[in-house]
Amino acid sequence: MTRIVIAGAAGRMGQALIRCSRDIETLEITGAVEREDHPDLGKDAGVLADNKELGVLLTSDIRAALSSADALIDFTLHTSVPGNVKVAAELGRAVVIGTTGLTEEEKNTVDRAADKIPIVWAPNMSIGMNLMFAMVQKGASVLGKDYSVEIDETHHVHKKDAPSGTALHLGEKAADGAGENFTYLHDEGGSQNIKDPSRIIIRSHRKGEVVGDHTVSFSADAETIEFSHHAESRDVFAVGALRAAQWICPQKPRIYDMQDVLNLR
Ligand code: NAD
Repeated sequence: MTRIVIAGAAGRMGQALIRCSRDIETLEITGAVEREDHPDLGKDAGVLADNKELGVLLTSDIRAALSSADALIDFTLHTSVPGNVKVAAELGRAVVIGTTGLTEEEKNTVDRAADKIPIVWAPNMSIGMNLMFAMVQKGASVLGKDYSVEIDETHHVHKKDAPSGTALHLGEKAADGAGENFTYLHDEGGSQNIKDPSRIIIRSHRKGEVVGDHTVSFSADAETIEFSHHAESRDVFAVGALRAAQWICPQKPRIYDMQDVLNLR
């Protein structure tokens, strides 16, 4: 049984982690941590997530929560990550970091902690998307430079950045697989007639409440090969993070990513 503490437990990902953990018999959520001024401190974390009691109260005391657990999953704010990871390193607990947007200084703190504890760190924890990263890289290595690459990404209208970080990472994998430097042309609305076989083209679409759709197409004169991923809800990230938390506990100290967790290297 892996005992897990969630940092950011009242947030959108924290709640998804609690909901998704209910179906997994080999792990137990033993701690739910929130920031010191969170209005729901002291409330049952399960009731907040899906209206079912978990028997774990929201606390701001991460040290006490982690002292009787095996691993920490952090989906908070980038500024909170260094402090949380430092406590985990002092207690010798494994960590899964899903939080994005860390500054260079914050990343250095994580790197230093990895001298003492094993850490999984991945900006996209979806199992399916990590499989797609590996498939796109492999596809590009087989197809080579004669196939042009287009990446289509569709997200909800509230998303601020374009292209998505995931689309860029798919582009990096395609370029890496083909042995090329990653350069791309961006079609912001997804409808321009850009063609440049020497560059990767990324088309961004913004539509309704779409969680995240990505398609990578490799095209030559006689054929087209497509890899597609469709995310239904943010639960895909929670399921991946919970799998990572179980995998990381027995590992040696260093930084790992989801390619390691899923044995895709
Ligand atoms: P959110 O704002 O809904 O939740 C974040 C929570 O963290 C909030 O409840 C906040 O009060 C809490 N928090 C802040 N500081 C804290 C601290 N010191 N200790 C404990 N809790 C603290 O955000 P979200 O949508 O859940 O996303 C959280 C992070 O995860 C973001 O950085 C987001 O980009 C990232 N994310 C990563 C993936 C992935 O696959 N890696 C997927 C989705 C989101």
